[in-house]
Amino acid sequence: MEIRTRFAPSPTGYMHIGNLRTALYEYLIAKANGGKFILRIEDTDQERYVEGAVDVIYNTLKITGLIHDEGPDVGGDYGPYVQSERRGMYMQYAQELVKKGEAYYCFCTKERLDGLKEKNGEGDAFSHYDRHCLSLSQDEINNNLKSGMPYVIRQKMPTEGKTTFEDAVYGTISVDNSELDDQILIKSDGMPTYNFANVVDDHLMKITHVVRGSEYLSSTPKYNLLYDAFGWDAPTYVHLPPVMKDAHHKLSKRNGDASFQDLIEKGYISDAIINYIALLGWSPSDNTEIFTLEELKKSFSISGLSKSPSIFDIQKLTWMNGEYIKAMEFEKYFSLVEPKLKEAVKNKSLDLRKIAALLQKRLETLNDVSALVDFFDELPEYTTELYVHKKMKTTEEIALSSLKACLPVLENLSDWEETAIHDSMMALVGELGIKNGQLLWPIRTALSGKPSSPGGAFELADILGREETIKRIEKGIELLSK
Ligand code: GLU
Repeated sequence: MEIRTRFAPSPTGYMHIGNLRTALYEYLIAKANGGKFILRIEDTDQERYVEGAVDVIYNTLKITGLIHDEGPDVGGDYGPYVQSERRGMYMQYAQELVKKGEAYYCFCTKERLDGLKEKNGEGDAFSHYDRHCLSLSQDEINNNLKSGMPYVIRQKMPTEGKTTFEDAVYGTISVDNSELDDQILIKSDGMPTYNFANVVDDHLMKITHVVRGSEYLSSTPKYNLLYDAFGWDAPTYVHLPPVMKDAHHKLSKRNGDASFQDLIEKGYISDAIINYIALLGWSPSDNTEIFTLEELKKSFSISGLSKSPSIFDIQKLTWMNGEYIKAMEFEKYFSLVEPKLKEAVKNKSLDLRKIAALLQKRLETLNDVSALVDFFDELPEYTTELYVHKKMKTTEEIALSSLKACLPVLENLSDWEETAIHDSMMALVGELGIKNGQLLWPIRTALSGKPSSPGGAFELADILGREETIKRIEKGIELLSK
């Protein structure tokens, strides 16, 4: 049987990390088994409708490479793939259950239901409908329907015994049927409840594996009773523990925690985010940590999923992001970093590719760029203490004499490029009989005005060009001569 999984997000306007993890696992379960990954937009909750929210879903799947085989934009044999466009499909299924005696019409008014709530005692949650309408005669039902009386359709739950199912992560889950309410399947406006629609949709779309948050665990027995009532096969359930912010709090966009888009804006790379969230609840059989999506497809298995909640550790993600940047092929890296560099470096004569190359090993996020390159456009104010470095064996005096010595050499250098600068400076070190650092540290300091910089003396001089290099060295000499 073909494995078919579905990602069924509600368009909220952002991609919560937990939702993206659900999408990833669904994608991997399908792709590890040569199956299909389906996108279904669950937009029936109109109050939550947000303009542009569906695009956030499409964009996220596209950027992350979680490409769906069927969905509203790509079509497929089991559409429509937008729940609001399926509105008309559910009533017939509810009526089928009524015919089978598995569901019934309920004409109770709001007042009556509110009264029941009160009877249950103040403060007590109204949990169970009292099945008042279950005992209506067929004539009463027909008359009510004919007279246009508003109604809902309720699922008739068994009152005895247990409903048990196997969850692929949580194991055997069992509830007493007496605890189950006769839940509404069709609302008084004729629309299905989520609890009904998802079962019908998953069945009609031939979904074999349902991956969703553990908050749905308690509803699953009701879903399974629906599958049984129809005589349909229930899917395999894969419930996932929540992604936590710390030991006690769930990660939540409402509390200001980062969504996928937020992370991208903070300079994280999509591949690194996907790699990191793959490990939030799944462990590979060995200790490998870095996985491309292709490698995940090969290594992923449901048996590696854990039911203990994992904590979203931004430091771990930051580390992983740095590893991704370091390992990235230069052209791809440059395409990501170039916009950030253009924002941070305004001087058009500077070679951004050379600057990018200096940064590749030092960036943890793409947003680290601006702080690292701020000295290229303009030399910052600095004090001469920066020239003093114990390991480099430099003092202010040594720095002054080194800068004075290198100035004419650099002024007269015929080719201004890194190797020529390197060779001339190393020759000067030899002539002066000093340590490398005693010349190179002062030059690096004079060129950057900072205690540390991406790139050393040669690279910075090469990028800044002769004129600017000479100017900055002269500035250093001036400061050190005071
Ligand atoms: N639309 C639901 C949500 O976004 C999906 C739940 C499910 O996967 O069934 O929470």
